[in-house]
Amino acid sequence: MAVDSAISSPLGPPACEKDAKALRFIEEMTKNCDSVQENVLSEILTQNAGVEYLQQWNLNGATDRETFKSKVPVITYEDLQPYIQRIANGDRSPILSSHPISEFLTSSGTSAGERKLMPTIAAEMDRRQKLYSLLMPVMNLYVPGLDKGKGLYFLFIKAESKTPSGLVARPVLTSYYKSQQFKTRPFDPYNVYTSPNETILCVDSFQSMYSQMLCGLIYREEVLRCGAVFASGLVRAIKFLQLNWQELAQDIESGKLSTKIIDPAVRDCVSKILKPNPDLARFVREECCEGNWEGIITRIWPNTKYLDVIVTGAMAQYIPILDYYSGNLPKTCTMYASSECYFGLNLTPMVKPSEVCYTIMPNMGYFEFIPHDPSNPVTISRDQPPHLLDLADLELGKEYELVISTYSGLCRYRVGDILQVKGFHNSAPQFKFIRRKNVLLSIDADKTDETELQSAVENASELLKEFNTTVVEYTSYGDTKTIPGHYVIYWELLIKDPTNGPTDDVLDQCCLAMEESLNSVYRQSRVADNSIGPLEIRIVQNGTFEELMDYAISRGASINQYKVPRCVSFTPIMELLDSRVVSVHFSPKAPHWTSERRF
Ligand code: AMP
Repeated sequence: MAVDSAISSPLGPPACEKDAKALRFIEEMTKNCDSVQENVLSEILTQNAGVEYLQQWNLNGATDRETFKSKVPVITYEDLQPYIQRIANGDRSPILSSHPISEFLTSSGTSAGERKLMPTIAAEMDRRQKLYSLLMPVMNLYVPGLDKGKGLYFLFIKAESKTPSGLVARPVLTSYYKSQQFKTRPFDPYNVYTSPNETILCVDSFQSMYSQMLCGLIYREEVLRCGAVFASGLVRAIKFLQLNWQELAQDIESGKLSTKIIDPAVRDCVSKILKPNPDLARFVREECCEGNWEGIITRIWPNTKYLDVIVTGAMAQYIPILDYYSGNLPKTCTMYASSECYFGLNLTPMVKPSEVCYTIMPNMGYFEFIPHDPSNPVTISRDQPPHLLDLADLELGKEYELVISTYSGLCRYRVGDILQVKGFHNSAPQFKFIRRKNVLLSIDADKTDETELQSAVENASELLKEFNTTVVEYTSYGDTKTIPGHYVIYWELLIKDPTNGPTDDVLDQCCLAMEESLNSVYRQSRVADNSIGPLEIRIVQNGTFEELMDYAISRGASINQYKVPRCVSFTPIMELLDSRVVSVHFSPKAPHWTSERRF
């Protein structure tokens, strides 16, 4: 029931007093975008005036935008790494932030094969929590009655490691789910999950998924929304159901939890929920036994009104399979965030994925923008700090690269995301997420760039040397038709002595050698999360890449400028490549990965 019009919001009638307050906050922030940004920068610079990093730029106490922009360089992670390394090694002096670094957040973006480490401070948790608190009030504007049931969310933590000086390093969501803000969140009828905290907080991905799925099945009629953070997570959950429904149904029938679940906290809490229910067990078996997965989400959870998953950016590849599983339920992309900083939210979450826009909340950090026009690239030099644009300066239709300054101490840091202004809410621009720079392949959280792929190919092709064979050309493709998805690499070989070419076994080992060379997020997804399947090499006939070039030229590419695309997704090109495949090889085992990272 909407509250009375006295507290109505331009966004729509709020569902309750608490929502009204949240919507008022969004209005206030988006109406005063520029002045909020000015204040945020001033607060950051005041708070961090004495830190080593800022001191070197001689701001001399200035906290205004002009001075900041004229003196502080725009940087990437590599520029910050020496400072971060010192913090990791135990230097507790105020290097980047005047507040103590509470932990490192490990980004899915990597540097030298390892997750980037983002220092954070305790106060940032409250800022993130604030953004989370705005999501349901917006959702409630579009979907009434979400307080009458539960959300089935597949949420996971990952292994954490420690720096030599004892600071914890873990992904931002692991940090959030383990926080008191999450664990002891007050009851909110609009935010009731089917998964007990203990199931989310179990680090073993099988036990966590199993117990969350089991609870989801038990509460199936109460479920009003299904989700995961990213689309890949929900696809993986459905695949898990496909593989484990018999055992899940068995548990439901008997009321006894599978012996595979050994985590005592999980056993304890799930056992309290699990009661013998032969009718439900029969229902699960009937729905799953024929192997028909079309509409499975709405068949099992018939009251689901929408899927709460991010399907923008690299996740767009999962839209067809989610539509298949859910009979085209709306897919709401509610927020846009990163380890460095949470950015903003989607104020119209029920729109089609192609129309999703995120409104950056100006209280989250100080945001600047580099105009992104590939035909007229801006050169960023460290010696002469560029005058970048503010949130208030952006133009409709134009693309920009995001640069952030945060309370935790990042100053003019290039996130790597390219955004396009699609509209405005009050004075705040609303952005379509275009892409992340330099990402060639991505199945789950992994982001593999061209250099990483190149060196993986080089390392693997070492194994071909003794067969007098070289890789003359290659390209790649993220295959998400398999679940989990996997990397496919097309190789054209030059086999100098066809009587002694590489055997199938050697080519299988090449797949593994490539995986061993890929970054730790890829390997973690392969080993700990099972969210990426074994890498595949498809050997194509000699001359295939020349045909690829002919095809591109026939479509208007310049012969002088033609470069082999290192990743392909255009159907006619895939068809051409696949029609020339002479053999197919898969990684015979998982690559090496450990939760202990190098510091
Ligand atoms: P991480 O640092 O691992 O948390 O990854 C953050 C990155 O994930 C962002 O910089 C984006 O590239 C991507 N990302 C986060 N939220 C979204 C979203 N809603 N849509 C598309 N990409 C996103």
